Amino acid sequence: MPAVVVKPDRSDQVTALLGYAAERGIPVTPRAAGTNLCGGFAPTPESVALDLSGLNRVVEVDVEARRAVVEPGVINAALQEHLRPSGLCWSPDPASAAISTVGGNIAENAGGPSCIKHGVTFHHVLGLEVALAGGRLLRLDRDDEVDLLGLMIGSEGILGVVTQAVLSLRPLPRATWTALAAFDRIEEAALTVSAIVAEGLTPSALELCDQRQVQLCEAWKPSGYPVEADAILFAEVDGDPEAVAAAAPALESVLRRFDPGIRRCCGPARWRPPSASTWRPSPMRATATSIRCCSIGRPRPRPCSEPRARSRRPRSTSAGP
Ligand SMILES: Cc1cc2nc3c(=O)[nH]c(=O)nc-3n(C[C@H](O)[C@H](O)[C@H](O)COP(=O)(O)OP(=O)(O)OC[C@H]3O[C@@H](n4cnc5c(N)ncnc54)[C@H](O)[C@@H]3O)c2cc1C
Repeated sequence: MPAVVVKPDRSDQVTALLGYAAERGIPVTPRAAGTNLCGGFAPTPESVALDLSGLNRVVEVDVEARRAVVEPGVINAALQEHLRPSGLCWSPDPASAAISTVGGNIAENAGGPSCIKHGVTFHHVLGLEVALAGGRLLRLDRDDEVDLLGLMIGSEGILGVVTQAVLSLRPLPRATWTALAAFDRIEEAALTVSAIVAEGLTPSALELCDQRQVQLCEAWKPSGYPVEADAILFAEVDGDPEAVAAAAPALESVLRRFDPGIRRCCGPARWRPPSASTWRPSPMRATATSIRCCSIGRPRPRPCSEPRARSRRPRSTSAGP
């Protein structure tokens, strides 16, 4: 527990606090949404917890330049909602996007399912305003001769406090195609990932879940995932409808290499009427909201619910997330 929690809502309050604390040798620990998966926010009893959730303004969106200036406490998902009407998005999509903040994403250099195509937070930050320990405000830019911006991104709050960020935005894809492949052996899922890369395909998202993860997800929120499968793989391509139409069959053929059960679904641009299946790929970022149903794409040699006999050794009970 920290000695005190301070919640500023302006960057000059942050610098004033840091200056005051530095003069007295008081440790300060920044905190954003507090998802804190890696334990970066661990205040000591004599420290000040600096709650940055009050710095939560989207200062400016320049649609033409595909650029946004935001404060660090803006929630990732709220930023995406803010940008949606302008047809833009900010690429980082950690699974914590609904609660984590831009500042936290920057401090952790967060990625997400789409980082295979679009990169991690580092690739989408153009500049930062940072309050240093003594209270000095520093501006870091992607074009600086020394890459202090790169040093700052992912530094988990130990080098300074991000008080404002200039983000690079990209257009929302006009079409998406998503598939779920279910495998009898997790090794086949891993080999499929390698094959996708070897084929030179660039999915916009790729996520592997082992059986334990799938079972836990299903127990928490039933979504019709094949709990019998040893592993499942979500794969998505996005872009212009023509590009998606060209990429999807190639991706599907690699996914089918190990003869898995495949379920496919299409984004709004390639919408098909709902079938009996109501599968929704909830572990995958925005697809959970943009895709409303999936259909079983074509006759499968074996439905997901009837996996072929397994010829592998029993899995260790310690396997899992
Ligand atoms: C359910 C869940 C799913 C996740 N999924 C992913 C994923 O798919 N990919 C991925 O990469 N990560 C993932 N994460 C981790 C993710 O990186 C963090 O959730 C997120 O980036 C942290 O944001 P936050 O706002 O919660 O920050 P906090 O947890 O509050 O803080 C994280 C760290 O950043 C520092 N910090 C916070 N704000 C600032 C600031 N303004 N300036 C300087 N330092 C600051 C804090 O001191 C702390 O060290 C996941 C976490 C959870 C809980």
